[in-house]
Amino acid sequence: MPSSALLSRYSDLPQNGKIQATYVWIGGSGSDLRCKSMTLDFVPTSPSQLKEWNFDGSSTGQAEGHDSDVYLRPCAIFKDPFARGDNILVLCETYNRDGTANVTNHRAACAEAMAKVEAEEPWFGLEQEYTLFDVDDQPLGWPKNGFPGPQGPYYCAVGANKIYGRDIVEAHWKACVYAGVKIAGTNAEVMPAQWEFQVGPCHGIEMGDHLWMARFLLERVAEDFGIVVSFHPKPIKGDWNGAGLHSNYSTGPMRVEGGMAHIEAAIEKLSKRHQAHIAVYGADNEQRLTGKHETASISTFSYGVANRGCSIRIPRSVAQCGYGYFEDRRPASNADPYQVTRVLVETTILGVTDEN
Ligand code: ADP
Ligand code: MN
Ligand code: MN
Ligand code: MN
Repeated sequence: MPSSALLSRYSDLPQNGKIQATYVWIGGSGSDLRCKSMTLDFVPTSPSQLKEWNFDGSSTGQAEGHDSDVYLRPCAIFKDPFARGDNILVLCETYNRDGTANVTNHRAACAEAMAKVEAEEPWFGLEQEYTLFDVDDQPLGWPKNGFPGPQGPYYCAVGANKIYGRDIVEAHWKACVYAGVKIAGTNAEVMPAQWEFQVGPCHGIEMGDHLWMARFLLERVAEDFGIVVSFHPKPIKGDWNGAGLHSNYSTGPMRVEGGMAHIEAAIEKLSKRHQAHIAVYGADNEQRLTGKHETASISTFSYGVANRGCSIRIPRSVAQCGYGYFEDRRPASNADPYQVTRVLVETTILGVTDEN
């Protein structure tokens, strides 16, 4: 019997009032996800009811061996699509023994910035691109000793000679919907074995929480299929599209009549802080932001209506009606959404500049 069929013999066993809670956190690389689980004897309704836990930070690159405890502080609860029932996934922040945020805990600073800008009602919608690999480190479905035909037929495609991994994509979508992640949609991308899902619109700190849980669910679903997820922004060198984390953003004033003036003012501020944004928009992004493959150069800031070769794109529909949102196309697929959303509100609302 395959192990998944075996597991189903046990997954329906009554739980005698106990709840399975899986704590999830961001590891020492800033992009790896870690988890461990505990049994509860009540159904929590808020993260504040859940106890702080800890783990061995020396095993995740988050602490030294001689002082290795790192603390897990629950910050968001999702339903567990694997264990189902009342069982839960618990997204956590990581803290050091002295009470400071761990080096890869970018949520703490994000939450602080979001609290200051609450009245502006920032909304985000992030487009997470990623690539599926088989366990031999080869993009899923690619020929063993060569390359598939050039890009063109794969984006939003249908057909066994163009699509690799749709079962994983659909399972992940279902898992997100069940868990309560605000997944907005999915599509096949320009490079074969590359996919996208969107999360949003989310309000403030919720954006990072939901995107990180969506990433966890993707890696967990892919694990069941024996497939590996890559969030690298340029997984295959050469004439193949990279992977981004396009970040759609608006504030209350941008979303109502007269909003275009607010969108333009925000873009003006962004134009003066290009490098500060690039610094937190993901590692290896210079391999992706080349000016080719629907990107702008990493060294210059640009914007335009409906132009996918710019740093910032104002969607045509937004330009036509005169209000709405804009898209920051610079973030890489491996960027931390807590950092991306924080720097967006700092620059466009809090007036942070490179001088202050
Ligand atoms: P693209 O055309 O760039 O591929 P997508 O449809 O993939 O765009 O993603 C656009 C995302 O923009 C949506 O998933 C949604 O979450 C987000 N979005 C829509 N309206 C707003 C808004 N007013 N503020 C912020 N994000 C928004
Ligand atoms: Mn998209
Ligand atoms: Mn895309
Ligand atoms: Mn986009």
